[in-house]
Amino acid sequence: MKVALVGNQNSGKTTLFNLLTGSHQKIGNWAGVTIEKKEGKIRTTDCDIIDLPGLYSLNPYTQEEVISYDYLLHEDVDLILNIIDATQLERSLYLTTQLLELNIPLVIALNMKDLADTRGIKIDYDLISEKLNTTIVSISALKKTGILDLINVIKKNKFKDNKYSHIYDHDFEDVLNEVVAEIDGNHQRFVAIKMIEGDERFDDGVTASIDQKRQALKKTYNRELDQIVTDERYRYIELLRDDAVKSYKTHRSWTDRIDDILLNKYLSLPIFAVIMFGIYYLAAGPFGSMTVDWISGLIEQFSGWLSMRLDGWGASPWSHSLVIDGVVAGVGAVLNFVPQLIILFTLISVLETTGYMARIAFFLDRVFQKVGLSGKSLIPFIIGSGCSVPAIMSARTISDETEKRMTIMLTPFIPCSAKLPIITLFAGYFFSDRTGLISASLYFFAITVIILSAFIMKKFIFKGKVSNFIMELPNYKVPHVRYVFRDVYLKVKAFMTQAGTIILLASIVIWFLLSFSLSFEYGVSPDQSILSYIGRVFSWIFYPFLGDLSWAASVSAIQGLVAKEQVVSSMAIIANFSSEVDTGILIFNSQVFQFFTPASAYAFMVFNLFSAPCFGSIGAMKKELGLTSSMFKAVLFQTGMAWVLATLVYQISTLIGVLL
Ligand code: GDP
Ligand code: MG
Repeated sequence: MKVALVGNQNSGKTTLFNLLTGSHQKIGNWAGVTIEKKEGKIRTTDCDIIDLPGLYSLNPYTQEEVISYDYLLHEDVDLILNIIDATQLERSLYLTTQLLELNIPLVIALNMKDLADTRGIKIDYDLISEKLNTTIVSISALKKTGILDLINVIKKNKFKDNKYSHIYDHDFEDVLNEVVAEIDGNHQRFVAIKMIEGDERFDDGVTASIDQKRQALKKTYNRELDQIVTDERYRYIELLRDDAVKSYKTHRSWTDRIDDILLNKYLSLPIFAVIMFGIYYLAAGPFGSMTVDWISGLIEQFSGWLSMRLDGWGASPWSHSLVIDGVVAGVGAVLNFVPQLIILFTLISVLETTGYMARIAFFLDRVFQKVGLSGKSLIPFIIGSGCSVPAIMSARTISDETEKRMTIMLTPFIPCSAKLPIITLFAGYFFSDRTGLISASLYFFAITVIILSAFIMKKFIFKGKVSNFIMELPNYKVPHVRYVFRDVYLKVKAFMTQAGTIILLASIVIWFLLSFSLSFEYGVSPDQSILSYIGRVFSWIFYPFLGDLSWAASVSAIQGLVAKEQVVSSMAIIANFSSEVDTGILIFNSQVFQFFTPASAYAFMVFNLFSAPCFGSIGAMKKELGLTSSMFKAVLFQTGMAWVLATLVYQISTLIGVLL
């Protein structure tokens, strides 16, 4: 049996899906987290269940709503499991009235019972069940109540086959039935209504006689046809609500009261700034750097121990160097930052599950509207603080094509987790007294650049209007420890996997290019290595913002193209080769990186922050933008922007001496 899990955004679909199947999909408290449909088997049964992206109605607007819509209409679904947020009954039932018309058996899982209870909302399930002629099970996906009942209903086929219950008024029903009689195929009632409404997707089937009936209806009701249908649905839902829902407490909810402050016209932006600053301060400031010292101490010990072992085993000098100076130095440099990432991911994940993230989108909407973006673009930007790849993919929720393309091109500007090592390395060394401030400043720099670029793009490249932003603000929730933990775990795992694969491989390549001269002589000084010659070819490009023709910094920055983590790890390997001491902050004391000043350090961070993203996100941009040429344009735009900004930062700050 095939069960489709359908419901509004944030109704708890993914939470329920995970409970029913025992799998761990990502849960987030905003629209756009579930992008593609996920499949699984309901425990103890042989029913397949599909977690479809959220939708508000069967008049799909966005790409992901279309996924759900197509699935319901064109796959052989045996049962629709319609999940409803009991605290948002009215809005949710709109979709239900449409689903019922598909003539597919439907079970309602009335979720968030816990919230409804604490708010004193009393719902008469039997009455709704009787009126809609469906089966209702009251559950709380979060507190895991009612889940077994739900599984039982599905397993034992104990659900009504919902012969359609009439929601429209008599005149309308009569016409509707006549239209139904004229069409054949699946979902007749649904199709008939779509034809009456004038949905373009069904225009082909509209015969002269059907059209005649439509015109008659329009006359009777004296309104547009789609308006009649919508009005009828709401009229019915309101009647149902009045009969079935009793709310005992009428005081304002906690969510309302918190929103009075957090969404206040004047306070919202400052509070947001303080929160983001706090997050970066904790992750990259004194506390975060302590963890780095700790881990790098451990890695050093490990490196010393391994070095002794290798000598003991009689390893040849070059293999000893490959392991210690290449692999351990390169991979270790990246692993240093894991604790900081854990802090950053945890805090962002907490913001996500509490519902604050959705608010950010809401109040930044006003600012974004002015530059051709909307609050919807903010979702990719926020996801982008973890990794640009899923962030770029989440831009699919944006229905306006122009806005979507702009968002995809701007998302990589957000400092992702792989850029954090660069930021903390440079900020920690050159601005040790204000690391948190400098790190946070880059974040706000990124937002400013995004807004400015969007403004310029809209003025000169894309012209058009902005899509309407209709995100639901979810209720505030206490962060759920298990989900935060899992979210952080998955992100850290992805980071470590990257370190164990791409960075490991790149470290070996870099070691090789550093150890051999152009005539393949082993053990030359770094200045004579193959890598240094490659770097020299490009070093003039970086000169304007480094103030030095540095082959070492140039090759490191170029490697950011493969993966941003590689910038730091390559610097560590090169420094290791060029330095006598191998303890302490060796990178900036090494002969090749000595030239860095606070100004060039900041400029270098800016360049890496904005330049073309890693291979992974370039691939994602290509996929989402559709054309290879658009992808190249995006990469060119990003890298050009990075170069210009870095050069401006360096030149201006050396001129007036702000960063010194
Ligand atoms: P989806 O967008 O429909 O997939 O919804 P999710 O499964 O991602 O859930 C959205 C939010 O609602 C998450 O923060 C969940 O923890 C929360 N949630 C889900 N079910 C319940 C419930 O029964 N009670 C409460 N209080 N919160 C819930
Ligand atoms: Mg979901």
